[in-house]
Amino acid sequence: MTTFSLSPEAAEPLIHVAQRNLRRLKTVPDLAPRYTGHDKVLTLGDIAAVPPLVKDDLNVALAHLQPKAETGATWLFQSGGSTGAPKVGYAPTGFYMTGVYEQWRPLDRDDVFVNCWGAGRMWGAHFLAAAFADLSGCQVIALGSVTKDEYSDWISFFNLRKVTAIGGTTSVLRLWFAHARANGIELPSLRKVLWLGESWHSAVDEDLAAVAPNARRWGMFGSTETWVVGTNTPDCPMDTFHTLPAQLVHFGDDELLDFTTLNPDMLNPVLRYQTGDAGQFVECACGRGMGMKILGRRDSVVQVRGLGLHVDDIIAQVEREPGVSRAQVLITELRGRVSTVDVLLLTDQNATPDLAERLRKELQGSTFTISTAFQHDPDSFQVKVVDSLISNDRTGKTSNFVVRDQS
Ligand SMILES: [Zn+2]
Repeated sequence: MTTFSLSPEAAEPLIHVAQRNLRRLKTVPDLAPRYTGHDKVLTLGDIAAVPPLVKDDLNVALAHLQPKAETGATWLFQSGGSTGAPKVGYAPTGFYMTGVYEQWRPLDRDDVFVNCWGAGRMWGAHFLAAAFADLSGCQVIALGSVTKDEYSDWISFFNLRKVTAIGGTTSVLRLWFAHARANGIELPSLRKVLWLGESWHSAVDEDLAAVAPNARRWGMFGSTETWVVGTNTPDCPMDTFHTLPAQLVHFGDDELLDFTTLNPDMLNPVLRYQTGDAGQFVECACGRGMGMKILGRRDSVVQVRGLGLHVDDIIAQVEREPGVSRAQVLITELRGRVSTVDVLLLTDQNATPDLAERLRKELQGSTFTISTAFQHDPDSFQVKVVDSLISNDRTGKTSNFVVRDQS
């Protein structure tokens, strides 16, 4: 079975980029020891032998390497930081979108495109989509995020401007289309829905069928560390993406994907970086050859409203507290969107009466994902003392986090 997204013939002319990144990573004092004995990356086999980068490793590397773009600005973006300050990823102006545009053309000069990815807060997707629209030569409405009571007015404006395309994270798109459907509003000109940042949700299809029956989905897959790795079209399954020629994707025995950049302009030294996503390569139903099918996450980073929540870090922090014997994170979803996050506590005789409320304030103050995701509804994050944690019906095991669908 193929375990790389590229053939040796396609990858090896660009493999010097991986060799250069190995050389850079070996200069990082905290990471150097793991690369002992790995000096040359000349083949795909050499890449598969290099130890993977996980979680904070890239951040450690970037803090030491301080990369700078060859031309233009060096942009700093946050990449799913959960505890304390956000983790930081780097990108040059342009955000590597020329490679995406070469393979993927959802927009053309006649499109009127609404960019609904949130701008600011060191989020990358809004600017990445703007760079892509620039290459596409379409008309752009840079909207960013708006509040619920503004939806109807904006949708009227979209129709006035004959908006043909809209882009955002799946949970934001879901809010727009659910609102339109609930209020009987249609978007007759809308043809294209661009998405990135979360997996697609079939609930959006249902709303689209009612609100904009001519609209079809166009997806990008990536992370702030790797940037865009692959794209898909309306003819591809929603979980399958065609990888870019400068992105070398590999999966190991456990189906965990790792990503290696072969793009010489990439500022993040991405060499076998594991995002926690599992996947495999399949023949895509669209007929355009092999695609990367995403099988979901295999680690403890859970997406909460577009941000990565590092569940294990939270559990570790809470369980260090006197009086807490065990903790568990309960994530409740409503129609594909995280509605609440609860930290459940089993306590012992050392627990003080104010323990839960004190921990709630501490976590809200120190956890970037929680403070940002719940800034408009802080009560949706709670810490609760319980009599028992939730165990898996089948195995009886109690894991660090449970996701419950309340739709
Ligand atoms: Zn396809």
